[in-house]
Amino acid sequence: MAGLRELRVHTVELLRTPGLVRAYPADVNPSDLEITDSALLERVVGTACADLTVESTVDGLVVHGHVEVVTTDDCRRCLKPVAEPIHVDIDEVYQQATPGRTEAPEGITLLESEALDLTPVVRDAVLLALAGPPLLCDPNCAGLCPVCGEDRNEVSCTCTSEVTDLRWSALDQLRDLPAE
Ligand SMILES: [Zn+2]
Ligand SMILES: [Zn+2]
Repeated sequence: MAGLRELRVHTVELLRTPGLVRAYPADVNPSDLEITDSALLERVVGTACADLTVESTVDGLVVHGHVEVVTTDDCRRCLKPVAEPIHVDIDEVYQQATPGRTEAPEGITLLESEALDLTPVVRDAVLLALAGPPLLCDPNCAGLCPVCGEDRNEVSCTCTSEVTDLRWSALDQLRDLPAE
């Protein structure tokens, strides 16, 4: 993949100058990210906004920043379409490949050429955002009645069946935990 021009980092000067920081802001069209699953691609609203900086350190490059992407899906309870902005933090470490050094240490990517393409970093962030838990239109969404199918947010039917969807109750607890 050729990668996006805005996300192409020329590494020579950076690697020569520890402490140098360059910014690589980019609004990325999701269709440029080579996401092959078209159903996933359709769940991205608009462009993904990448705000990345590359900092040169004594032994490589560190990529910091975040990717903001709006994903859409049907509410998992009432099936209304919902959109949710998702923020993915980026923290990547790159080191120069040297002769005889073919394997990168854990968590580090080797720089194989004088250009570093950040497009895969943005693609992975968008895929991570899409892999999040199923969306809810509202934490208190009442969902569809399992008996008559009415939307209980709009209609109060007289069905009496009590059905709990156990698959998602564990997820609900997870979502209620504070982030990090
Ligand atoms: Zn809902
Ligand atoms: Zn009902």
